[in-house]
Amino acid sequence: MMLPQLLHTEEKDKLRRLVDKATHVVLLCHQNADGDAIGSMAAATLLLRRLGKTVTAIAPNNFPDFLMWIPTASEMMLADRMMNRVDAALAEADLVLLLDFNTPSRMGDVLPEKLMACPAPRVMIDHHLNPDADCALTISHPEMCSTCEVLLRVMLDMGWTEGMTALEATALYTGMMTDTGAFTYASNRPEVYEAVSILLGLGIDKDRIYRNVFFTYTEGRMRLMGYLLYVKMEMLPHHAALITMTNEERKHFHVKNGATEGIVNLPLQMEGMRLSIFLREDTEQPGLIRVSTRSVDDFPCNELCAEFFNGGGHKNASGGSLRMTMAEAVGVVKTAVRKYEDKLKVNEIST
Ligand code: 5GP
Ligand code: MN
Repeated sequence: MMLPQLLHTEEKDKLRRLVDKATHVVLLCHQNADGDAIGSMAAATLLLRRLGKTVTAIAPNNFPDFLMWIPTASEMMLADRMMNRVDAALAEADLVLLLDFNTPSRMGDVLPEKLMACPAPRVMIDHHLNPDADCALTISHPEMCSTCEVLLRVMLDMGWTEGMTALEATALYTGMMTDTGAFTYASNRPEVYEAVSILLGLGIDKDRIYRNVFFTYTEGRMRLMGYLLYVKMEMLPHHAALITMTNEERKHFHVKNGATEGIVNLPLQMEGMRLSIFLREDTEQPGLIRVSTRSVDDFPCNELCAEFFNGGGHKNASGGSLRMTMAEAVGVVKTAVRKYEDKLKVNEIST
């Protein structure tokens, strides 16, 4: 199978004009960047440098250590620690790429205003529903597994894969792998594997990429996982599970903020599970509970998160937050699960 064109002729022409004209490109991703955010910024950084541009990649805040090995990740600017350098980069920018988010508020409190004050044209490349950022060009493909998949398709359409390096391919593969839980969800489209095949052809070592990302636990992280599963996991009706974690518990195991990624997926490994919810205290804002949800098949996490957790996301992976105590948040979860009972029960009928 050959991958079909993703972009229309007008989109390609527009993107080429914008990139041709640019000399200083700023890349932005969402707060609490994940593998897809960092992977797509890294690949875009290397690509644009190959095209002769000066590139500054900015993450709104710190991101997990297990992403730091990604090419160019260690030189990315963390906006909350060096806002004056962010201001300087935006002042010089003649093109801004928004990668892996659909609306400026996903960058946190400060960056949206700065972005809107920057006169450079904006291009969004993303795979979240409902793009809303007033861009010169919006390349939004929610059917794709990751922004990295969208970016690869853009690069193919634009002829930018000519001369593409294994480092660029490695960055793209990382985003595809992390946003699909190593190709265990959101990855049934044959095009996903076609894209992977292209990246393998460029010489990536996918087994090593997997280990770099997933086999990086500290002893504390491993023991925290055991504790959360043994002591803190609560089974809810109709194949749902809830795990809660306080900052005190996290600190007891010497686990850093951001290093609890993946915990939410674990309950789904039990047979017949439909939904997993993970509540954790925010590390910076007291009184804020972060919510992560994961589901299988057609259970709509994004609808659940929009209705109960001030958030959204993808059908099988969404998140949000609640401004209340942990006990109150657990109450909200129980109400939410009751309301979505019928959608959770589907599995009981079909098995
Ligand atoms: P995670 O559980 O890994 O933090 O987030 C999973 C997905 O849910 C993210 O990729 C993102 O699409 C979505 N998400 C997480 N937090 C929020 C939020 O506060 N608001 C919205 N709209 N989406 C979120
Ligand atoms: Mn993504």
